Amino acid sequence: MPKVLIPTPLRQYAGKQDSVELSGSTVGEVLTALTTHYPDLRRQLFNDEGKLRSFVNVYLNDEDIRYLEKNATPVKDGDTVSIVPSVAGGSVAAPPEPATAELSKDEILRYSRHLIMPEVGTEGQLKLKAAKVLLVGTGGLGAPLGLYLAAAGVGRIGLVDFDVVDFTNLQRQVIHGTSDVGRKKLDSAADRMHEINPFVRIDKHEVALSSENAFGILSDYDLVVDGTDNFPTRYLVNDACVLLGKPNVYGSIFRFEGQATVFAYEGGPCYRCLYPEPPPPGLVPSCAEGGVLGILPGTIGLIQATETVKLILGIGQPLVGRLLLYDALAMRFRELKVRRNPECPICGEHPTITKLIDYQQFCGILQQVTAEGDIDPVEVKAKIDRGDKFVLIDVREPHEYQICRIPTAKLIPLGELPQRLNEFDPDIEITAHCKSGMRSAKAVALLKQAGFRARNMKGGILAWSDKVDPTVPKY
Ligand code: ZN
Repeated sequence: MPKVLIPTPLRQYAGKQDSVELSGSTVGEVLTALTTHYPDLRRQLFNDEGKLRSFVNVYLNDEDIRYLEKNATPVKDGDTVSIVPSVAGGSVAAPPEPATAELSKDEILRYSRHLIMPEVGTEGQLKLKAAKVLLVGTGGLGAPLGLYLAAAGVGRIGLVDFDVVDFTNLQRQVIHGTSDVGRKKLDSAADRMHEINPFVRIDKHEVALSSENAFGILSDYDLVVDGTDNFPTRYLVNDACVLLGKPNVYGSIFRFEGQATVFAYEGGPCYRCLYPEPPPPGLVPSCAEGGVLGILPGTIGLIQATETVKLILGIGQPLVGRLLLYDALAMRFRELKVRRNPECPICGEHPTITKLIDYQQFCGILQQVTAEGDIDPVEVKAKIDRGDKFVLIDVREPHEYQICRIPTAKLIPLGELPQRLNEFDPDIEITAHCKSGMRSAKAVALLKQAGFRARNMKGGILAWSDKVDPTVPKY
């Protein structure tokens, strides 16, 4: 007769036995025989419609038969049917994760405010425990996400980041503290999350997510939360999620405004349905260039965390097909409908994107910073000291100029430059600088186009502070 192996957490419903021999010619018949013998087990394994619950997998010998018609798979004498509590969509090769199907006494105490709500309860808490969530980025959005998803008991949380904590992060990235400055964000975030909840498993992926590594990293998780700060990574996360069939919980922030929605979920739209193409480089400033109210990522990150938990529990109305807009200054939320675009190049009816592409190129990002003719701040200082004939312009905004400046630099904000070209002598070389070298690269391109000789100061005033004058504050 075929043998059925009962996993530890379910043995209490099967007369405390670890295996049972039952007759039947298919897996379906064997499982029916099992639950006829042990009616208590039926409620654990099957839902009201008689379907196997989503965290239960069935193996025949060593074969995962999740994707086969379980009822009809034939079994013979000596075969072993294993019931493995897990989450659908997990890696076939992954070993069954022990104890995910029960809560310890400590966990029951910790999660008691969840357990007493019927919408969550023990079953919901077990879903959270079995869930595998990937957070891309541990910055402004990743900080509240990491803290609350760990506290809520999401069993396995992957973090993708390769950055180091610096002082400018602390105004909003509340997962990191002052003593963490200089540490890897991954280590700092993981330590804090473990301090909140030692029961959570944290995977550290210390890489920049790329077309080469995205599938390998994302495939281990049930859903992905996008907390990145740049367009190439947003399109990469979107495309990888669509191609792998993983929900993408999206959030973005700028100054006083935020957006949130859920992409690529059960026939819903994707990021490309909403934004088929990225803005031209430089049009939408990053938070580093444009600033962000420190509290804003908290609000948006927690909306993402809420949606993540709802998707795991399967409760409520997910934020699918709806783009939530938040305006902190007006303190107003608005909601826009987003429909799946049948012409979408990746999730539409005739997709043209079937694999990951070069996202830097797609977003028009060129290696501006290291362009030919760039000049080092040390060399700029030497030219000033020698009294060389050249003009140094600062293309930042007046409020940035107030924070710090190079004394000999003339302030001409990038937006005013096209109207102020008549202020330059065509015979005199111009050197442009900004905060980090991105905006000044655009200024140099514009000046060259207008016929001037122009060079970009590499690394901007931040590099000036590092290499020339440490009394210049960094921001
Ligand atoms: Zn789409």
